[in-house]
Amino acid sequence: MGGFRSALAAAFVTLALAAGPSAAETGLVAVDVGHTLSAPGATSARGRGEFEFNRDLAGQIASALGERGWEARMVNADGRIESLRARPQAAAGAAFLLSVHHDSVNAFELSPWTWEGRALDYNDEFAGHSLFVSRDNPDTAMSVLCARAIGARLQRMGFEPTHKNGRRRSYADREHAVHYYDGLAVLRHARMPAVLFEAGILKNRDEELLLRDPARQARMADAIATGLSACLRNGLPADDEASADLPDRVAPPGP
Ligand SMILES: [Zn+2]
Repeated sequence: MGGFRSALAAAFVTLALAAGPSAAETGLVAVDVGHTLSAPGATSARGRGEFEFNRDLAGQIASALGERGWEARMVNADGRIESLRARPQAAAGAAFLLSVHHDSVNAFELSPWTWEGRALDYNDEFAGHSLFVSRDNPDTAMSVLCARAIGARLQRMGFEPTHKNGRRRSYADREHAVHYYDGLAVLRHARMPAVLFEAGILKNRDEELLLRDPARQARMADAIATGLSACLRNGLPADDEASADLPDRVAPPGP
């Protein structure tokens, strides 16, 4: 019996070694700031570029991860990264890559308004966060699991997801607004599990103000870091995690 137990223990050790260092052992998480200074992404209802929103929130997420014992490596903090492929390359060695973005709406869903003398546009219909994973990532199962954990923690803390992206992107997890977006370069070229996070909708005039609030950014970062830590330290994907609950079921092609 004792011999059997020690043989079993030895087998587990061998398995653990074969799997390489675990996420908790490398301790490094890459936090990517979406877009660049020269191509700042979406424009908010009040005319601020998405890159600045991404940089602020990514910094808060890096701090929150640091408080939980992770080494957070910011990717593209200066907004000068040269290509989409350079992002996962800059994340090499990390246990996980989180790409931070803010969402917009379709051009035809916008209405014009004037703010501080500037002609801008807005849409107050949609609000909330959403998450994206790629099935072309080498660890889709862990990507989905961590996206679920982040989404669950955000909702536990009162953040509400948007389902506007369910009109075009199939769900990996409907309840937590986790979508498949296989072609996203930053996820597809990553060598580690990766998630793209859309923090909220910049064209929504109320939500824009919330997204600019440093205290709320810190709460959101706390939720993300808590969910991600739980996933990376203790998460074990289910056998069907990568195919999740509603594979390839997309709403009718919408606008
Ligand atoms: Zn973006």
